[in-house]
Amino acid sequence: MNIHEYQAKALFEKFGVPVPKGAVATTPEEFINALAQLPEGPTMVKSQIHAGGRGKGTFTDGYKGGVKFCQTKADAKEVAARMLGNTLVTVQTGPAGRKVQTIYFTVASDIKKEYYLAILLDRNSSKPVIVASTEGGVEIEKVAHDTPEKLIRVLVDPAYGLADFQVRELITKLGFAGAEAKNAARLIRNLYTAFWETDAAMIEVNPLITTPTGDVLALDAKVSFDSNALYRHPEIVALRDLNEEDPKEIEASKFSLSYIALDGNIACLVNGAGLAMSTMDIIQHFGGTPANFLDVGGGASKDQVIAAFKIILGDKNVKGILVNIFGGIMDCNVIATGIVEAVKEVGLKLPLVVRLEGNNVAAGKATLNASGLKLVSGDTMADAAQKIVKLVA
Ligand code: GDP
Ligand code: MG
Repeated sequence: MNIHEYQAKALFEKFGVPVPKGAVATTPEEFINALAQLPEGPTMVKSQIHAGGRGKGTFTDGYKGGVKFCQTKADAKEVAARMLGNTLVTVQTGPAGRKVQTIYFTVASDIKKEYYLAILLDRNSSKPVIVASTEGGVEIEKVAHDTPEKLIRVLVDPAYGLADFQVRELITKLGFAGAEAKNAARLIRNLYTAFWETDAAMIEVNPLITTPTGDVLALDAKVSFDSNALYRHPEIVALRDLNEEDPKEIEASKFSLSYIALDGNIACLVNGAGLAMSTMDIIQHFGGTPANFLDVGGGASKDQVIAAFKIILGDKNVKGILVNIFGGIMDCNVIATGIVEAVKEVGLKLPLVVRLEGNNVAAGKATLNASGLKLVSGDTMADAAQKIVKLVA
């Protein structure tokens, strides 16, 4: 689960990670109140969307920059009016962009130098890793590609936590000294605590800055949480912004379906995550593109199958559906009954290929045959995949 920059910064403050003073607004009327909370002078206007690269982004109406520096609060108010409600396209949003529904005003900081600092999980070592660089403010992927020696990586032992010598290593390699070193060390320790205590999956501060007065601040903040740990953090779940999520994925979560929207045109309805992955692979193997990952689970009910069909059909890119079910625990006839009811209820006009195998498969196939529905049956996974790819071509 992702949160907005302004929410991430509020969290940072709770953990003693310094950030510039800021205020949010969701309507033009709120601009005045929000700006009243900040001192007169240089002000940043920051579009709040769940994607980075906002500064270099462009709005769909041609207006440039989703993060802007303004000399005065009056300017900031005008700039905010151009951004709010406008759709921002960045390298991370995809071509459709994201509609800006919240504006964050912050006091503009004087930047002495920009750094990069992130904490995430290193899957190879199963440990949190702190990634830092003196090359902040730019795309870290570019640093990793062009000058990998400029990335500092410190693995943290989860049992012992972040050790002082590791903080010193980071401080030294980043070239901090004096007051900056002291401030940066405190910031890094507190950021690690925030990462650990909130079950974050990733915290990225780009840029982390130093100011001419020796302060060290998180100027940007991107935080995502491990969804499997959200049950421990109702206060974090409360920060969820449904505007930023795919409505189809929200609907799927209501029915306990694991659904991820993709950009192809063949929808798949599958039971089991492993089978769903291999179904996507085999569609691609035969030259098609999957429109989604959809796992109805090991014991899907008829209602879930109906909900799954509705979600699939809500995607206008879908040109055909492949149902691939292996009945282990699942009774193939339950799925078959669900498919028949769902197709009748939603009035399916797209090609549908069904491959059923396993527990009670004969009864399942009989149900499909007796239904009179126009569907194509696949004997094997490969056969089914080839058939649907051909039908949508
Ligand atoms: P992003 O483009 O989505 O990563 O948004 P950021 O919050 O990182 O802002 C983009 C860029 O704007 C930063 O990399 C900074 O160079 C600049 N910027 C952001 N906040 C300030 C600020 O307070 N003062 C100044 N001078 N520049 C800022
Ligand atoms: Mg940034």
